Amino acid sequence: MSLFAEIAIPAAVDMLFTYSVPLDLQERIQCGQHVRISFGTRTMTGFVIRLSKTSPQKKLKPISTIIDEEPIFTTEMMNVLQWIADYYIAPLGEVMKSALPQGLTTKEPNIKTERGIVISYEKKREWEQWKNGFANIKLTAKQQQVFDVLLQSESGFISLDVLKTHAYVTDAVIKTLHGHGFLTISFREVIRAEQYPPSEHEKQILNITLNAHQQKAYDTIEKEIVENVFHPFLLFGITGSGKTQVYIEAIREVLRKGKTAIVLVPEISLTPQAVRRFQLCFGEMVTVIHSQMSQGERYDSWRLTKSGVYKIVVGPRSAIFAPLKNLGLIVVDEEQESSYKQYDMMPRYNARDVAIMRGKENNAVVILGSATPSVETYANAKSGKYSLLELPERADNAQLPKIFIVDMRLGKATDATIASQPEPPKKKKFSSLTPFLVEHIEERLKKKEGVILLQNRRGFSAFVECPSCGFVEMCSNCSLSLTYHKTKYLLRCHYCGFSKRLPLVCEKCGSPSSLYKGVGTQRVEEELQTLFPAAKTVRMDFDTTTKKGAHEKILSSFGNKEIDILLGTQMVAKGLDFPHVTLVGVINADLQMLLPDFRAAERTFQLLTQVAGRAGRSALAGEVVIQTYQPEHYCLNFVTQHDSVGFFNVELFHRKQLLYPPFSRIAVVEFKGHDENETLLTAQVFTRFLKHLNGTVSVLGPSPAAIEKIQNFFRFHILLKSDKEKDKSGNYLHTVLRNAIEEFKQTPYGKSKKVVMLIDIDPSGMM
Ligand code: ADP
Ligand code: ZN
Ligand code: ZN
Repeated sequence: MSLFAEIAIPAAVDMLFTYSVPLDLQERIQCGQHVRISFGTRTMTGFVIRLSKTSPQKKLKPISTIIDEEPIFTTEMMNVLQWIADYYIAPLGEVMKSALPQGLTTKEPNIKTERGIVISYEKKREWEQWKNGFANIKLTAKQQQVFDVLLQSESGFISLDVLKTHAYVTDAVIKTLHGHGFLTISFREVIRAEQYPPSEHEKQILNITLNAHQQKAYDTIEKEIVENVFHPFLLFGITGSGKTQVYIEAIREVLRKGKTAIVLVPEISLTPQAVRRFQLCFGEMVTVIHSQMSQGERYDSWRLTKSGVYKIVVGPRSAIFAPLKNLGLIVVDEEQESSYKQYDMMPRYNARDVAIMRGKENNAVVILGSATPSVETYANAKSGKYSLLELPERADNAQLPKIFIVDMRLGKATDATIASQPEPPKKKKFSSLTPFLVEHIEERLKKKEGVILLQNRRGFSAFVECPSCGFVEMCSNCSLSLTYHKTKYLLRCHYCGFSKRLPLVCEKCGSPSSLYKGVGTQRVEEELQTLFPAAKTVRMDFDTTTKKGAHEKILSSFGNKEIDILLGTQMVAKGLDFPHVTLVGVINADLQMLLPDFRAAERTFQLLTQVAGRAGRSALAGEVVIQTYQPEHYCLNFVTQHDSVGFFNVELFHRKQLLYPPFSRIAVVEFKGHDENETLLTAQVFTRFLKHLNGTVSVLGPSPAAIEKIQNFFRFHILLKSDKEKDKSGNYLHTVLRNAIEEFKQTPYGKSKKVVMLIDIDPSGMM
């Protein structure tokens, strides 16, 4: 008998390859399996997509081996991945590759199991007592070193290698101690990230009973879980309403039914406390995927999820591909977050939308949770596509904070400081903190209450301008100004990472002074230190949190009130739950509001509402001070009134007029290349193939992207909009795009490798 297999290879090739299946593999081969094939002169791995008894082609190469007996993708996952490939117009092999932990597809899985020594918290306490009580027992110096290192370990867990290097001992010393029963060695396959013991506040959370609103939402969800049906919900709960607790109860129910759950969170660094709560509630059943994991840790997590050891996967967007069987629930927390959309590589999927598809395939419940839902999701809930559940009040009777808008123009401030180089400015004409905000901070410092300040721009100043000739230091690779980072006197590009020292004189006219324009976190930090020298201010942004665990450390000392003022970028805006915070200040609300993007108002509303939600989360009342140069902007009024629905209505009105989502589907086609003219010409050639349409899909461009050049690539954008009333499923948009791609690829421009074409369906940004 002859048997043929169509294979997808993990590369940017948009086709399947047919191989013959040798007799000895015919019994074992299955769809979804990982196999080895020879491809050209190379050996590669691929995935079995389809099997058939006939093939139009003759003389096919045989499949070499089957790598894993158990298919790497279940039928359910294959369907989801195929949907992604179709909807986002990406090669199936590439989609499959992105659904697996890195490294798995390129080489043989070759990951050592970690050997570790594990001590539980209880055990650690026992040890401390033991150490005190038996001080007279003579340990050798080496043994003492082992104990010292072990007792320092916060988590009570240490891997053997780390222990040996830190205690300067060999295996033999540890073996002896083990032989005497002084320590436990276990062969765990998981490496636990550094963990802090739960705070008092966190311990309380473990014994919460749902309030009436939570209970009502939970009951509705539970009914659907029990019935094993696909059902999407929008859990629209204001900040501090206790959404996390509803997720936790829903997960408990799913586990009782012998099923599993995925919890998507925007970025672990934005929601460390929620993630901790899942770990504290579900312990060993949870695996948390985060960006600081090594390749080995990721692979372990994936493998143990697949083999059924883990029942709950918590992680950012890629966690939507978790190989859980019997999936009963998918939670997408803060569903509006743009980090759910993969924008920098193929496939450009939105994990929230993939969650809906996976929910369908599994007859699972999907909960999209948010205090500030995206306009699209809100519209879906209004139309009945998703069921709306609301938590309109804060849990625990806390009140929403009072919000003040401060007009910065009235302070006659000019957003600039004159300084000679490279000395920092001495006399400040401008302060980024208005007297109103300063007074409010002072009050809090006196009362020992917590303050959170948001400035959504890192560095010291947004750009450096010459006061004599107006020259602005630009990145040599991007069409962007360089940001001044004062701590190291560096100018940095936040897009490509390029950096150089701040020049002593203007490069153009030789003038020795410069203007620092636009305020960054470092600058605010400096002002705070001058204004409140006795207060402890800590800056939390990308630059201060690169070290592993730095983030957690800052938050835990803020929780313990060792820090008075927590200043940061959007890292401080979301998800933080500190009952002692009673003041939130926004240094400049305009940073988001004025971006050239149709979602600018929506993102501003979300960010401000989120950060405002950090204040007043307990019996202590909270206040929020928002500084702006645009106090009349419509979104601010809705923020102060805590009126999301009012905001949605106005926003939907604007969107409808301009035919933006949710009233249309949009796609951006980007062309990028080193030669500006050639790139534009290629984009124009492509656009020609888009033109013959019958009015359903409109085409704008090509025009230079908002950021015209990034990393020496010139960028041109073509925007496609398809009216949803005429094109409900989006089929028309897809057909138009696919046809154009096909025709374009036949042209010399389409075949040229010099200009790259990128397709982004439902783009999260238009920059
Ligand atoms: P959200 O995720 O909706 O912003 P959280 O789940 O973080 O809200 O809950 C906000 C605070 O309210 C937390 O400190 C949590 O411990 C507390 N909380 C949640 N549910 C209850 C409840 N039923 N009773 C008392 N406190 C609660
Ligand atoms: Zn100059
Ligand atoms: Zn750059």
